[in-house]
Amino acid sequence: MKILWAPWRMAYIRRFSSGNSSKCFLCEAARGKSDEESLIVFRGENCFVIMNRFPYNNGHLMVAPYRHVGSILDLREEESAEIMKLLRLSVKALGEEYRPDGYNIGLNLGRVAGAGLADHIHFHVVPRWAGDTNFMPVISETKVIPEGLEETWRRLKSRFSRLRV
Ligand SMILES: [Zn+2]
Repeated sequence: MKILWAPWRMAYIRRFSSGNSSKCFLCEAARGKSDEESLIVFRGENCFVIMNRFPYNNGHLMVAPYRHVGSILDLREEESAEIMKLLRLSVKALGEEYRPDGYNIGLNLGRVAGAGLADHIHFHVVPRWAGDTNFMPVISETKVIPEGLEETWRRLKSRFSRLRV
């Protein structure tokens, strides 16, 4: 296994699990005062883009509506449209800032499908680089991320602010 530089050294990152739905981290982040603390990189009209605090890869983003809804069937038309817009914006921002070779974009709908937070839908945008699975086992609790979250937030926040869809 390759050893990568990791700012917090060998941190064992536990995957987010929401045992109690009363505390929804997406709602909390959206309501929060500090986008830097909650890792929100872009706020749209109906939806927002937030970094995954437990990323599968550097630059792992999530696009979610502000409204606490659990299914794509509950989305309003303007939310649906904006989600697609923000997914495209995310690909653009990550592309310009990190030049990945590809992306995984997707939604886990329902807990059995792997949704850690089942009742507030969010689309994942995971940038991929050729060979990244060599050192990033997909089904593992341990992740080594080459850049600190704060640094990634600064880069993406500023990149998003300069983009137009
Ligand atoms: Zn929520």
